Amino acid sequence: MRGALNYIEIANKIFFIPGEKDGRYPFSNSLFIDDDIKVLIDTGMGHKLAAELAKEKKIDLVLISHGHEDHTACNYLFKDAKICCHKLDAPAVRSVAKLKELYGSPPGTELEKSLDSYLRDFFGLKDSRVDLEFENSHVFDLGSIKLNVIHTPGHSAGHCCFSVPSEHLVFLADIDLSTFGPWYGCMDSDVDRFITSIGNIKALDFEVAIPSHKPITYGRETINKKLDVYLNKIFEREKKLTDFLNKERTVPEIVLQAFIYQEFPEPKGIYEHFEKIMIEKHLERLVRKNLVTRTNSGFKLL
Ligand SMILES: [Zn+2]
Repeated sequence: MRGALNYIEIANKIFFIPGEKDGRYPFSNSLFIDDDIKVLIDTGMGHKLAAELAKEKKIDLVLISHGHEDHTACNYLFKDAKICCHKLDAPAVRSVAKLKELYGSPPGTELEKSLDSYLRDFFGLKDSRVDLEFENSHVFDLGSIKLNVIHTPGHSAGHCCFSVPSEHLVFLADIDLSTFGPWYGCMDSDVDRFITSIGNIKALDFEVAIPSHKPITYGRETINKKLDVYLNKIFEREKKLTDFLNKERTVPEIVLQAFIYQEFPEPKGIYEHFEKIMIEKHLERLVRKNLVTRTNSGFKLL
């Protein structure tokens, strides 16, 4: 039922919990593992669903894939659980102010104010505890199930996927297989690392992939095909950008083209800002590869 808490068993003791709006942003999907140690991955399913879940299940561990608001918003409801995330994303989970900083909004600006009210009022985001900081290859032994941490930076510095090798299953988090493609609009996002992370996931042997904002994908071939399409979005964007740089262009001119968003959703100011950060990351990458050069007022193809 739409909007109701739903536990969908996808493997022994492993349940998919679709977020509100089928996990589309501003919500996200979760995974619940009902082993000796009870685990919830991410808390962005929506306040109502998360409150219900917190009441029904005694969660021991909350694992956070990364520090973005749509994955952490309901941490506060799991008072008795240990909250765990990668050490590089722990500061953003702990502090809304730190997350805002990572979104690159200069203090005291209109943008900062609107981002602040977006996070605190719209999301109800609060500072959170982090009780355990993990790193790549950390293994959570839950009783009969072993859950592995796969550090997959790019979307954020501490972004992680979680795998259950015995079930050939991976929680992909925001390697989300969306048609939008990879998102790297934070100061700690990194296009090159994102590309490497997608490659690393592809190299592993998974039959079940659970993205944070899309339905579950089954079958190794289908998963790999979707990962390729998703990865290619980066190169498609870069192609549009390099074509446009056939003459000198300023950054505001490039941002107006909306090569990444196509159309800016509301609140427009915030999404234009993300477009700018993502475009700047492409420009840095192209300059590093000696394909594009910096000019007095902008950038141009070499
Ligand atoms: Zn995210």
